[in-house]
Amino acid sequence: MKMNDFEAVIGLEVHAELKTASKIFCSCSTAFGASPNTQCCPICMGLPGALPCLNRRAVELAAMAGLALDCTVSPLCRTDRKQYFYPDLPKAYQISQAELPLCRNGFLTIKTLAGERRIGISRIHIEEDAGKLIHSEGSTLIDYNRSGIPLIEIVSEPDLHTGREAADYLRALRAVLVSCGVTDGKMQEGSLRCDVNVSVRRVGEKKLGVRTEIKNINSFVFVEKAIEYEIQRHAALLADGKEVPFETRRYDEASGKTVLMRVKERAEDYRFMKEPDLPPIYLREEEIEALRAMLPELPDARAERLVREYAIAEDDARILCSDRALADYFEAVADNCRYPRLAANLLLTDLLRRCQTDPFHSPVSAQRLSSLAALLGEGTVNSTTAKKLLQRLCEGDFDLSATVECESLGQIRDEAILKKTVLETLEELPRAVSDYKNGKTAAIKSLQGRVMARTQGRADPVMTERLLKTLLAEYEVEQHV
Ligand SMILES: [Zn+2]
Repeated sequence: MKMNDFEAVIGLEVHAELKTASKIFCSCSTAFGASPNTQCCPICMGLPGALPCLNRRAVELAAMAGLALDCTVSPLCRTDRKQYFYPDLPKAYQISQAELPLCRNGFLTIKTLAGERRIGISRIHIEEDAGKLIHSEGSTLIDYNRSGIPLIEIVSEPDLHTGREAADYLRALRAVLVSCGVTDGKMQEGSLRCDVNVSVRRVGEKKLGVRTEIKNINSFVFVEKAIEYEIQRHAALLADGKEVPFETRRYDEASGKTVLMRVKERAEDYRFMKEPDLPPIYLREEEIEALRAMLPELPDARAERLVREYAIAEDDARILCSDRALADYFEAVADNCRYPRLAANLLLTDLLRRCQTDPFHSPVSAQRLSSLAALLGEGTVNSTTAKKLLQRLCEGDFDLSATVECESLGQIRDEAILKKTVLETLEELPRAVSDYKNGKTAAIKSLQGRVMARTQGRADPVMTERLLKTLLAEYEVEQHV
């Protein structure tokens, strides 16, 4: 089977929890992590007679998402009942939006390996989340704390063609939504999750293949892997002359495969009806314009500005701007620093790796990272020492300059001292010296390592290498007969 004979058509439906303090139709808290069923009331549990009351903030946040994604925001829209039965949905209907969504016809530009691509966004609508089923020891429990959390569903056009592209789109979408304060975007807590529609056809065919829906994927990596697996699976079926069944599947993280959830016989019929308990939603032109004026600088524009203002690498700028808090932190560091490139490097390669659990609430203050970049940039300490100091700052705050002074951590750049150490090292490691002399130039690494060890990691690495090369050239190896 040649994969080049096939092409995939992919669309994403992304659900994002809106960052409101209370739920969409009642005043229950939306805080994550509370004990099960402690944040619910008759409205979010759907008890008979309870009446919903729309949280205006949810509408504003949803409209902001639409504006950030270049959508048209409708001045008038309404809510509808999407009717289906499932134990996590006690009303047996979800309040959502059908024909008249809040936002339509937007797009998001993503950067891919093949250049920039514009991915269409057909609609964004508001809806309520359902409760959560917890399966344990052969029984199923239900937590209704999540029931009634406000969501937006962002439906893309089927403009994506590979798993990588879909993951890039999801990353860019998350960055935009988080930068606007629409959602906290914590995929591990489920506040951003996505359903993927994949179909595959032979290249040149106009008609779309039968699509599979993969439900509730909650990581960028899994989105990419699930799609790539699914494309291969469809292509293999088509290559064998078989039909792809119309199915809903889920991604199994352990096996890296998608597995069948249910076979669909036809498109679901949700019997949408107008929600009779809620009035239409009006947004005046002035309100929409006021929300537009509140939009912050979006991630792409910010990345371009960081490159311009601080002369950092484009890739670094993009990673920094993938999360607003991270970019804010970097700017706080770089604003008072003559070495923003070094600061970006320390932040992205060392600091983020050390505080993986919560990288955006760094234990190291912006001022300290700025000072550390300065010590490194001015050559007071070398990069080995800088990394060690950063590690210590992650464990607890201290004054950098005083510590460097007190503990004599400064870089050794005195030529006479370094020369002496290098000569002693050559005496100590005659084997490495003769290897080097016999053409094994990599032997210089072990000599460099020994010089570093002798100086507790403080030797200037560039000077060390230069001195080693010069002295090795002059060095006579004793010949043993
Ligand atoms: Zn409630």
